[in-house]
Amino acid sequence: MVKETRLYDVLGIQVSATEVQIKKAYRVGALKYHPDKNKSEEAVEKFKEMTHAYEILMDAEKRDIYDQFGEEGLSGAGGPGGPGGFGGFGGFGGGAEDIFSQFFGGGAGGSRPRGPQKGKDIVHELSVTLEELYKGKTSKLSLNKKVLCKGCDGKGGKDVKKCSSCNGQGIKIVTRQMGPMIQRFQQACEVCHGEGEIIEPKNKCKTCNGSKVINEKKILQVNVEPGMKNGTRIVFKKEADQAPDTITGDVIFIVAEKTHSTFKRDGDNLNYVAKIDLLTALAGGHFAVKHVSGEYLNVGIIPGEVIAPGMKKVIQGKGMPIQKYGGFGNLVIEFDVEFPKDKFADEETLQKLEQVLPPRPSLNIPKGSTTEECILEDYRPQQHGNKNRGSGNSYDEDDDEYDQRQGGEGVQCAAQ
Ligand SMILES: [Zn+2]
Ligand SMILES: [Zn+2]
Repeated sequence: MVKETRLYDVLGIQVSATEVQIKKAYRVGALKYHPDKNKSEEAVEKFKEMTHAYEILMDAEKRDIYDQFGEEGLSGAGGPGGPGGFGGFGGFGGGAEDIFSQFFGGGAGGSRPRGPQKGKDIVHELSVTLEELYKGKTSKLSLNKKVLCKGCDGKGGKDVKKCSSCNGQGIKIVTRQMGPMIQRFQQACEVCHGEGEIIEPKNKCKTCNGSKVINEKKILQVNVEPGMKNGTRIVFKKEADQAPDTITGDVIFIVAEKTHSTFKRDGDNLNYVAKIDLLTALAGGHFAVKHVSGEYLNVGIIPGEVIAPGMKKVIQGKGMPIQKYGGFGNLVIEFDVEFPKDKFADEETLQKLEQVLPPRPSLNIPKGSTTEECILEDYRPQQHGNKNRGSGNSYDEDDDEYDQRQGGEGVQCAAQ
């Protein structure tokens, strides 16, 4: 429901007109009434009106305000300079309007109409798994919100009167002498309790008991599209709480991607660490990946193609769907090669490896160097971890704590 239709009537269009229809109507009118075509006073006036209507209706924000509050709503936002300047809309939702109220106590003069405020947006986090982001998902969410009472059209009752004590502002400016200073501050009007208007008890709307709004439950269908990313905003325009003289805020869902146990998302790509055995890494074979699509990928390694630990390969088109543009990202696989367990083969078998694998490189110790034979032992952090005592490094508190915790056995010198 719109408050008034004059601007639509001027252009001869329906309230539901699309931008294209508005443009078309304006062009048709301009051909008829443009001062170049028609110099009569009537035509000049008509053309001016049409241009004014066109400018407002083509601006989504201005059109919203007009639909809800009529031309009064537009002029109220004109700022301290009064109506006329259509550039003044930036003040909505906490801009100039708010600053003005802070300095001057919210239209203290009483003459400036209070323009509609922008209501709060309702923001929800929507937690989704990578699988859901791959396939897309539709959730039905129930929303409890306040809507303008239909019983009284959001007025609160019959015969609503402007409070004369505060001139409908709901607040009063109080001045107090504090020594040499004069302090000005605002307080809620005690006559109308800050409402700015007064309704006789008998006239109060029965449905909302004069509160102008009622609770309503609304089901929102939230569509998570395939490929949506963490942080994507799904906006339901003007579905937040309604309030009188307020531009209803939006309900906004923000996609929050859950961490996946095996895949890491990188934009449209998926990163995956594949653990394969040494034989497959050296001699080829297959490994399986349980994909976020739900299917299993059977991935072949060609015999002879050596996979080294940490090596990266890619499977094209097996990443995430690309939202809007279509297609898929890539699946980037990093390999972790699982080596056989200690003592997996006897001496004889190991000899066979020597026949198969490339030969050992020669020992790189120059002739005549002092050498020492050393033995490898298993590394245990508790026993062999870094004990940085006396290393001459700059002082570091953490190191000290570490030493104390570890019992500070002292550095074991390997030289014997
Ligand atoms: Zn009052
Ligand atoms: Zn009501």
